[in-house]
Amino acid sequence: MLELRDVRAAYERIEVVRGVSFEVGEGEVVALLGPNGAGKSTTLKVIAGLLAPSSGDVFLAGRRVKGARPEALARAGLCLIPEGRGIFPNLSVRENLRVATHTGRRFADLEASAFDRFPRLADRRDQVAGTMSGGEQQMLSLARGLASEPGLLLLDELSMGLAPLVVESLYEKVREIAREGVSILVVEQFARVVLDVADRAAIMVNGTIRAMGSPEVVEQELHSAYLGGRSN
Ligand code: ATP
Repeated sequence: MLELRDVRAAYERIEVVRGVSFEVGEGEVVALLGPNGAGKSTTLKVIAGLLAPSSGDVFLAGRRVKGARPEALARAGLCLIPEGRGIFPNLSVRENLRVATHTGRRFADLEASAFDRFPRLADRRDQVAGTMSGGEQQMLSLARGLASEPGLLLLDELSMGLAPLVVESLYEKVREIAREGVSILVVEQFARVVLDVADRAAIMVNGTIRAMGSPEVVEQELHSAYLGGRSN
Protein backbone atom coordinates (compact mmCIF):
# COMPACT_ATOMS: atom_id res chain seq x y z
CA MET A 1 0.00 0.00 0.00
CA LEU A 2 2.87 2.35 0.83
CA GLU A 3 6.52 2.22 -0.08
CA LEU A 4 9.29 4.70 0.69
CA ARG A 5 12.57 4.32 -1.17
CA ASP A 6 15.59 6.14 0.16
CA VAL A 7 13.59 9.25 1.04
CA ARG A 8 15.44 12.36 2.14
CA ALA A 9 13.85 15.57 3.38
CA ALA A 10 15.11 18.84 4.76
CA TYR A 11 13.94 22.12 6.24
CA GLU A 12 15.92 24.83 4.51
CA ARG A 13 19.29 23.16 4.31
CA ILE A 14 18.99 21.01 7.41
CA GLU A 15 18.38 17.42 6.45
CA VAL A 16 16.17 15.65 9.00
CA VAL A 17 15.17 12.55 7.02
CA ARG A 18 18.27 10.86 5.67
CA GLY A 19 17.53 7.98 3.37
CA VAL A 20 14.48 6.22 4.77
CA SER A 21 13.04 3.08 3.14
CA PHE A 22 10.16 0.90 4.33
CA GLU A 23 6.83 -0.55 3.26
CA VAL A 24 3.37 -0.88 4.73
CA GLY A 25 1.33 -3.77 3.31
CA GLU A 26 -2.43 -3.97 2.92
CA GLY A 27 -4.14 -4.19 6.30
CA GLU A 28 -0.78 -4.02 8.04
CA VAL A 29 0.00 -1.92 11.12
CA VAL A 30 3.54 -0.56 11.11
CA ALA A 31 4.86 1.43 14.07
CA LEU A 32 7.53 4.07 13.58
CA LEU A 33 9.14 4.72 16.95
CA GLY A 34 11.98 6.92 18.08
CA PRO A 35 13.00 9.79 20.29
CA ASN A 36 12.10 13.43 20.05
CA GLY A 37 13.27 15.12 16.86
CA ALA A 38 14.15 11.85 15.08
CA GLY A 39 12.27 12.91 11.95
CA LYS A 40 9.13 10.76 12.38
CA SER A 41 6.57 13.54 11.87
CA THR A 42 8.59 14.87 8.96
CA THR A 43 8.43 11.42 7.35
CA LEU A 44 4.63 11.51 7.69
CA LYS A 45 4.55 15.01 6.17
CA VAL A 46 6.46 13.74 3.15
CA ILE A 47 4.10 10.78 2.71
CA ALA A 48 1.05 13.08 2.98
CA GLY A 49 2.45 15.50 0.40
CA LEU A 50 2.90 18.35 2.88
CA LEU A 51 6.65 18.48 2.39
CA ALA A 52 8.47 17.64 -0.84
CA PRO A 53 11.29 15.13 -0.37
CA SER A 54 14.70 16.29 -1.58
CA SER A 55 15.31 12.85 -3.08
CA GLY A 56 13.97 9.30 -3.09
CA ASP A 57 10.57 7.96 -4.06
CA VAL A 58 7.16 7.38 -2.52
CA PHE A 59 4.61 4.88 -3.87
CA LEU A 60 0.96 4.64 -2.84
CA ALA A 61 -0.91 1.51 -3.92
CA GLY A 62 1.83 0.90 -6.49
CA ARG A 63 1.65 4.39 -8.01
CA ARG A 64 4.55 6.80 -7.76
CA VAL A 65 3.19 9.79 -5.83
CA LYS A 66 6.30 11.78 -5.06
CA GLY A 67 5.46 15.46 -5.39
CA ALA A 68 1.68 14.85 -5.48
CA ARG A 69 -0.56 17.44 -3.78
CA PRO A 70 -2.09 16.59 -0.39
CA GLU A 71 -5.63 16.86 -1.88
CA ALA A 72 -4.76 14.38 -4.62
CA LEU A 73 -3.27 11.99 -2.08
CA ALA A 74 -6.38 12.28 0.09
CA ARG A 75 -8.52 11.41 -2.93
CA ALA A 76 -6.23 8.44 -3.55
CA GLY A 77 -7.11 7.13 -0.09
CA LEU A 78 -4.53 8.62 2.23
CA CYS A 79 -5.55 10.13 5.56
CA LEU A 80 -3.20 11.83 8.03
CA ILE A 81 -4.33 12.34 11.61
CA PRO A 82 -1.82 14.89 12.83
CA GLU A 83 -0.39 15.34 16.27
CA GLY A 84 -2.86 17.49 18.21
CA ARG A 85 -5.87 15.72 16.67
CA GLY A 86 -7.10 18.09 13.97
CA ILE A 87 -10.68 18.48 15.19
CA PHE A 88 -12.71 21.68 15.49
CA PRO A 89 -12.79 22.35 19.26
CA ASN A 90 -15.67 24.86 19.10
CA LEU A 91 -17.96 22.60 17.10
CA SER A 92 -20.04 19.76 18.52
CA VAL A 93 -19.25 16.12 17.82
CA ARG A 94 -21.98 15.95 15.17
CA GLU A 95 -20.85 19.18 13.55
CA ASN A 96 -17.31 17.85 13.43
CA LEU A 97 -18.58 14.75 11.66
CA ARG A 98 -20.77 16.84 9.36
CA VAL A 99 -17.70 18.78 8.18
CA ALA A 100 -16.25 15.42 7.13
CA THR A 101 -19.14 14.88 4.67
CA HIS A 102 -17.27 16.90 2.06
CA THR A 103 -16.01 13.47 1.06
CA GLY A 104 -19.40 12.84 -0.54
CA ARG A 105 -20.75 10.28 1.92
CA ARG A 106 -24.26 10.75 3.27
CA PHE A 107 -24.12 12.29 6.73
CA ALA A 108 -26.54 9.75 8.18
CA ASP A 109 -24.32 6.85 7.06
CA LEU A 110 -21.16 8.51 8.22
CA GLU A 111 -22.65 9.30 11.61
CA ALA A 112 -24.04 5.79 12.01
CA SER A 113 -20.69 4.16 11.31
CA ALA A 114 -18.83 6.62 13.58
CA PHE A 115 -21.22 5.96 16.47
CA ASP A 116 -21.21 2.25 15.83
CA ARG A 117 -17.42 2.17 16.11
CA PHE A 118 -17.25 4.65 19.01
CA PRO A 119 -20.46 4.39 21.09
CA ARG A 120 -18.93 6.91 23.47
CA LEU A 121 -19.23 9.57 20.76
CA ALA A 122 -22.92 8.82 20.37
CA ASP A 123 -23.45 9.66 24.04
CA ARG A 124 -21.67 12.95 23.49
CA ARG A 125 -23.02 13.83 20.05
CA ASP A 126 -24.08 17.37 21.01
CA GLN A 127 -21.13 18.18 23.25
CA VAL A 128 -18.64 20.82 22.14
CA ALA A 129 -15.63 18.77 21.04
CA GLY A 130 -13.07 20.88 22.89
CA THR A 131 -14.70 20.08 26.23
CA MET A 132 -14.42 16.30 25.79
CA SER A 133 -11.67 14.24 27.38
CA GLY A 134 -8.45 13.78 25.40
CA GLY A 135 -9.38 10.17 24.62
CA GLU A 136 -12.83 11.15 23.35
CA GLN A 137 -11.28 13.86 21.17
CA GLN A 138 -8.91 11.30 19.73
CA MET A 139 -11.88 8.99 18.98
CA LEU A 140 -13.51 11.87 17.14
CA SER A 141 -10.40 12.55 15.10
CA LEU A 142 -10.24 8.86 14.13
CA ALA A 143 -13.96 8.87 13.27
CA ARG A 144 -13.45 11.96 11.09
CA GLY A 145 -10.43 10.41 9.38
CA LEU A 146 -12.33 7.20 8.66
CA ALA A 147 -15.20 9.17 7.12
CA SER A 148 -13.19 9.38 3.90
CA GLU A 149 -12.84 5.56 3.92
CA PRO A 150 -9.06 5.70 3.55
CA GLY A 151 -6.85 2.86 2.39
CA LEU A 152 -3.89 4.23 4.32
CA LEU A 153 -4.13 5.90 7.70
CA LEU A 154 -1.18 7.84 9.13
CA LEU A 155 -1.41 8.42 12.88
CA ASP A 156 0.91 10.86 14.63
CA GLU A 157 1.30 10.40 18.40
CA LEU A 158 -2.16 9.04 19.10
CA SER A 159 -1.13 8.55 22.73
CA MET A 160 -0.10 12.15 23.36
CA GLY A 161 -1.22 13.28 26.81
CA LEU A 162 -3.53 10.32 27.38
CA ALA A 163 -3.71 7.84 30.26
CA PRO A 164 -2.30 4.36 29.52
CA LEU A 165 -5.69 2.61 29.66
CA VAL A 166 -7.19 5.10 27.22
CA VAL A 167 -4.25 4.62 24.87
CA GLU A 168 -4.66 0.87 25.08
CA SER A 169 -8.33 1.00 24.12
CA LEU A 170 -7.60 3.41 21.24
CA TYR A 171 -4.99 1.00 19.92
CA GLU A 172 -7.49 -1.85 20.11
CA LYS A 173 -9.63 0.22 17.74
CA VAL A 174 -6.62 0.76 15.50
CA ARG A 175 -6.13 -3.01 15.33
CA GLU A 176 -9.82 -3.44 14.47
CA ILE A 177 -9.58 -0.84 11.69
CA ALA A 178 -6.57 -2.65 10.21
CA ARG A 179 -8.50 -5.94 10.29
CA GLU A 180 -11.03 -4.28 7.99
CA GLY A 181 -8.21 -3.91 5.44
CA VAL A 182 -6.92 -0.39 6.15
CA SER A 183 -3.13 -0.04 6.15
CA ILE A 184 -1.85 1.94 9.12
CA LEU A 185 1.41 3.70 9.87
CA VAL A 186 1.63 4.85 13.49
CA VAL A 187 4.22 7.26 14.81
CA GLU A 188 4.94 7.25 18.53
CA GLN A 189 7.86 8.44 20.58
CA PHE A 190 7.60 5.36 22.62
CA ALA A 191 4.34 3.84 23.66
CA ARG A 192 4.96 0.20 24.54
CA VAL A 193 1.33 -0.57 23.82
CA VAL A 194 1.75 0.12 20.11
CA LEU A 195 4.04 -2.93 19.86
CA ASP A 196 1.12 -5.11 20.95
CA VAL A 197 -0.93 -4.11 17.92
CA ALA A 198 1.80 -3.59 15.31
CA ASP A 199 2.68 -6.27 12.75
CA ARG A 200 6.09 -4.69 12.32
CA ALA A 201 7.95 -1.79 13.85
CA ALA A 202 10.90 0.44 13.07
CA ILE A 203 13.12 2.62 15.20
CA MET A 204 14.09 5.95 13.75
CA VAL A 205 16.98 7.91 15.21
CA ASN A 206 18.52 11.03 13.80
CA GLY A 207 16.77 10.76 10.44
CA THR A 208 17.55 7.12 9.70
CA ILE A 209 15.93 3.74 10.42
CA ARG A 210 18.14 1.99 12.94
CA ALA A 211 16.17 -1.22 13.25
CA MET A 212 13.10 -2.74 11.64
CA GLY A 213 11.36 -6.03 12.21
CA SER A 214 8.86 -7.86 14.36
CA PRO A 215 7.63 -6.03 17.48
CA GLU A 216 9.60 -8.51 19.61
CA VAL A 217 12.87 -7.75 17.85
CA VAL A 218 12.27 -4.01 17.94
CA GLU A 219 11.38 -4.11 21.61
CA GLN A 220 14.75 -5.72 22.32
CA GLU A 221 16.43 -2.94 20.38
CA LEU A 222 14.55 -0.31 22.34
CA HIS A 223 16.02 -1.74 25.50
CA SER A 224 19.47 -1.12 24.12
CA ALA A 225 21.30 2.12 23.64
CA TYR A 226 18.94 4.01 21.32
CA LEU A 227 16.61 5.31 23.92
CA GLY A 228 19.13 5.33 26.70
CA GLY A 229 18.03 1.90 27.91
CA ARG A 230 14.61 3.14 28.98
CA SER A 231 11.44 1.59 27.68
CA ASN A 232 8.72 2.78 30.07
P1 ATP B 1 8.67 14.54 17.88
O1 ATP B 1 8.33 13.22 18.44
O2 ATP B 1 9.32 15.46 18.85
O3 ATP B 1 7.58 15.19 17.06
P2 ATP B 1 9.83 13.70 15.41
O4 ATP B 1 10.63 12.46 15.34
O5 ATP B 1 8.45 13.65 14.87
O6 ATP B 1 9.86 14.23 16.87
P3 ATP B 1 10.20 15.87 13.57
O7 ATP B 1 9.03 16.63 14.06
O8 ATP B 1 10.10 15.20 12.26
O9 ATP B 1 10.66 14.80 14.66
O10 ATP B 1 11.44 16.86 13.57
C1 ATP B 1 12.73 16.48 13.08
C2 ATP B 1 13.64 17.68 13.12
O11 ATP B 1 13.17 18.68 12.21
C3 ATP B 1 13.69 18.38 14.47
O12 ATP B 1 15.02 18.76 14.71
C4 ATP B 1 12.79 19.58 14.31
O13 ATP B 1 13.22 20.65 15.14
C5 ATP B 1 12.97 19.92 12.87
N1 ATP B 1 11.76 20.54 12.31
C6 ATP B 1 10.50 20.05 12.37
N2 ATP B 1 9.62 20.87 11.74
C7 ATP B 1 10.35 21.91 11.27
C8 ATP B 1 10.02 23.10 10.53
N3 ATP B 1 8.76 23.35 10.13
N4 ATP B 1 11.02 23.95 10.24
C9 ATP B 1 12.31 23.69 10.62
N5 ATP B 1 12.68 22.60 11.31
C10 ATP B 1 11.71 21.72 11.63
